[in-house]
Amino acid sequence: MVKVLKGKKIFTGYEVIHDGCVVIDGEKIVGVGMESKMHIPDKSDIIDFGDNTILPGLIDSHTHLALSAQMPNYAATMKDDTLTLTLRAARNIRCDLLSGVTTMRCLGEKDFIDVAIKDAVEKELIPGPRLLISGKGIRSSYGHGIMGTPFDGVEEVRKAARINIHDAGADQVKVFVTGSKGEFRNFKFGTERTVERNEMQSLMTKEEIQAAVETAHCVGKKVAAHCYGGVGLKHCVEAGVDTIEHGIYMDDDDIEMMLKAKAWLTVTQNGYLSDQRIINRGTPELTKGFVKFRDDVRAAYTKAVHSGLRYALGTDGNHGGFAYELETLVGFNIEPMKALQAATTEAACMCGVDEKVGSLEAEKFADILVVDGDPLTTMSDITKVTAVFKGGRRMDDISQW
Ligand SMILES: [Zn+2]
Repeated sequence: MVKVLKGKKIFTGYEVIHDGCVVIDGEKIVGVGMESKMHIPDKSDIIDFGDNTILPGLIDSHTHLALSAQMPNYAATMKDDTLTLTLRAARNIRCDLLSGVTTMRCLGEKDFIDVAIKDAVEKELIPGPRLLISGKGIRSSYGHGIMGTPFDGVEEVRKAARINIHDAGADQVKVFVTGSKGEFRNFKFGTERTVERNEMQSLMTKEEIQAAVETAHCVGKKVAAHCYGGVGLKHCVEAGVDTIEHGIYMDDDDIEMMLKAKAWLTVTQNGYLSDQRIINRGTPELTKGFVKFRDDVRAAYTKAVHSGLRYALGTDGNHGGFAYELETLVGFNIEPMKALQAATTEAACMCGVDEKVGSLEAEKFADILVVDGDPLTTMSDITKVTAVFKGGRRMDDISQW
């Protein structure tokens, strides 16, 4: 049966339609427009959302299924066994879906948890957004990346990328290039100590990054690199990495280089700016370190999002907390509509799924968020979720699961 969603305001991802409706047939949208101009078939199932705003389902462009940033000392919980992590992942993506996220790009999991979870979502065993997975995140031995697995040298990196793509069915390849404040661990004869290391150093060689990029690009897949700035960023851009993740210490030269190369940036704000997230990282020393560099991160992001760089948003494991990314971005003087595009049309483009999702247009999947209020004027209204549809199916009624 044809379904029709009516609302006072519709944001298609490109423009605003007043007193509009979205016509859905099965999984797909067949039309969007002003109600007075739309053909609504007899016997349609009409849902009138009144004063609510209808917009495309949100896209979280950088997250991890099992990483649970909402938990205290979450880095330590990543050492839990695979079964525990898998159960946590199933719970996490339910929060994401209920917050209006209908597509997630997952950038590295342990033990191919993402493969199993994606399969379970597609078979409708558990509720969750559409998942774009990476399989095992590729890092170097002793390198950064609690969500990564070590591979060394060109041959190992190439093989890891191939296994991820051809065996695990990865949608993109993830590499961890630079270190990260405090999280960097020095394994000295088996003793794990947290040490402050220069997080701008490159922990993969340019040849290793290149091996991942060549392998992925040969078969039409993109490469995402955890990278804060410095020489690691230079290597990534020169190697042809498609998306720089985090980029929190980019300087003017880095931004310039990315603009020239048409590389994208994934802005992940809560990880470096949110009080609660910083506390949840674990030890007091870690928290202190993150607080110390918070203004630098804010300055780099402010510059980046006004530079002309194309960017999308990611929660990096802050499940159900996507609103923080949108609200913080608006705080950097980005227009609400542009902020929403970083979570819809732009994100779909960056993730390579813009022919399927990201906007309310005929032929796209009917992935739709309905909120009580108007995030185009008051971004915090994005949390007032009335309904979430994925492929035309209403998902916010959790009694069905
Ligand atoms: Zn991440």
